[in-house]
This record gives sequence, structure tokens and C-alpha cells, in this order.
Amino acid sequence: MQVVTEIEAMRAISREVHHRGESVALVPTMGAFHAGHLALMRRARELATVTVVSLFVNPLQFGPGEDWARYPRRLESDRAAAEAAGVDYLFVPSESAMYPHGEVVARVVVGRMAEVLCGRSRPTHFNGVATVVAKLFHIVEPDWAVFGQKDGQQVAIIRRMVEDLNFPVRIAVVPTVREPTGLALSSRNEYLTEAERRKAAALYQALSAGQARFAGGERHPQVLVEAVRAVLAEAGIQPEYVELVQAWDLGAAPDPLAPGAYLLAVAAWVGTARLIDNVILTVPEPSAS
Ligand code: AMP
Repeated sequence: MQVVTEIEAMRAISREVHHRGESVALVPTMGAFHAGHLALMRRARELATVTVVSLFVNPLQFGPGEDWARYPRRLESDRAAAEAAGVDYLFVPSESAMYPHGEVVARVVVGRMAEVLCGRSRPTHFNGVATVVAKLFHIVEPDWAVFGQKDGQQVAIIRRMVEDLNFPVRIAVVPTVREPTGLALSSRNEYLTEAERRKAAALYQALSAGQARFAGGERHPQVLVEAVRAVLAEAGIQPEYVELVQAWDLGAAPDPLAPGAYLLAVAAWVGTARLIDNVILTVPEPSAS
């Protein structure tokens, strides 16, 4: 595995790969690798001949007072983990390479999909994500880019950005990797104490309760949301939001739910960690018989 820090070198490598008639899959990350990241790397290896993992703790997607300075950074162990996972190139640009002017003037503005769910409390977050992902797409020119369903709003926004702005890249999404308790793996879980980590498992238990009501035939969004809220309340967690929205465009879910895919999503603070999780609920089309 080669570590690449220069933008021009990364682009030259990708162009050389394409010149050979081979393909590139990109996994954008902020590092502190866990089994979720490794699942994305495995998927990337299945999709293309060459796997590029980018590692960049993007300041543009953190708001003032958020955890940018505190975010875990451990390049050496990440490098070893990526190498063991069979990654070909680890792209680790510096902040001055990515934002040479400091100030960013031209950026991707996402609009209404960035204003719901996490966007309510993190109003600049998804513009920062979309901007850095667009830059990475221009630098790496991947055939495939791989994202985790754990960040469901991010997935929907990136898919839409790719369509709206005609990026020549295909998006692959990997299911959320969880601890045995159900807690979704996250670099931010490192902020949790042992007791908080046990408490945080309630996020997925709550989503599972909503999922169970849905599986039992419940089709009223508000009832499903309340089922999630009840489990969170029992665990002493006051969520920032629990919402059920259309999975593809994050628009309001109809009441009752019509055929289609929905994102049942939660965000909550546990200790000093802001955690998110989601499940997808799919209402099948009525059978044509
Ligand atoms: P991050 O380094 O947290 O920005 O995440 C990089 C990528 O890994 C994103 O596409 C995330 O959605 C994905 N990811 C993070 N945690 C998980 C998880 N538990 N399961 C699957 N994918 C994940």
C-alpha cells in the first residue's frame, strides 16, 4: 500500500490506472478506522481493481464548537489497518493542500436535503461534506465511491449530488456495522465511558422497536416515531430528533405510508458524544396478482 499526500500525485495514479483499462473505487473517511470502515474497504475491493481510501478530517463539515479538534487522529494504526485490509492507496492530503486559500469561496450548497434531520442542528455540515466529497471525486476520479448506511442522510445527499451535478461515479452503500449490543460503530463512540456505551445501545433498540411495529403492519409515521421515542425515554435518552422520512429525497413521509423506502432516523447526545443511527423501512408495492 502506498500513502499519497499530494493531490497531483493522486490524480496521476488514478489516470494511470484508467489508462491500463482498470477501475478505481474510493472510500472517503475521516480515519480512526473500525470494522465499519473495513467493511467499506472490502466492498471497494469487490467493485474495482484498485482501492483508494481517503483520510481527511475535513474542517469544513464541523461547525463552531463541534469536535473537530478532539476528533481521533491516528495515522499510524490507520495505515496498518488499511494495508491489512488490502487497500492499494491511502490518500492523506494536508489541510493546506485541500484548502490552500484557507477561506473556501466556491462550494457545493445542498439545499433542502441538508436542512432536515441532522441539518437542523448542524446547518453547515452537509454543505461541508458535499464540498469535500466533490473535491475528492475531482481528485481521485473514481468509478465507484463507497459509503456507509450509518450516515443515511449523507448517503441520500451524495446520491442526489451525483445526479444533480452529473459526477461520472457510481455509489455503493454498505449496511451499518454494529457491536453485539446493536450500537452502530462510530469513531465518536470513543468519547463514551463504559456506562454511556451501554446506554447508547438504546438507540438501536429503539429503532428496532419501531421496525418491529412496522413489521407488525403499523403504517402511521407518528406511531412508529412514538415507538422509538418510548424506548429512548425508558433508557433516559432525550433525542435531538426521531424522524421518519422518504429514504431517497428525505421529504415528508405520507400518512399512512405508501409503497416506497423510508428512513427511520435518530440523533441523540450520550455523554459528550452526538450519536446517530437509522434503519430503512420498505413498504412493498402491492402484488399485481
Ligand atoms: P467517517 O470516517 O466516520 O466519516 O466514515 C467514513 C465512512 O464510513 C462513511 O461512509 C460512513 O458512513 C462509514 N461508516 C461509519 N461507521 C459505519 C458503520 N458502523 N457501518 C458502516 N459504515 C460506517
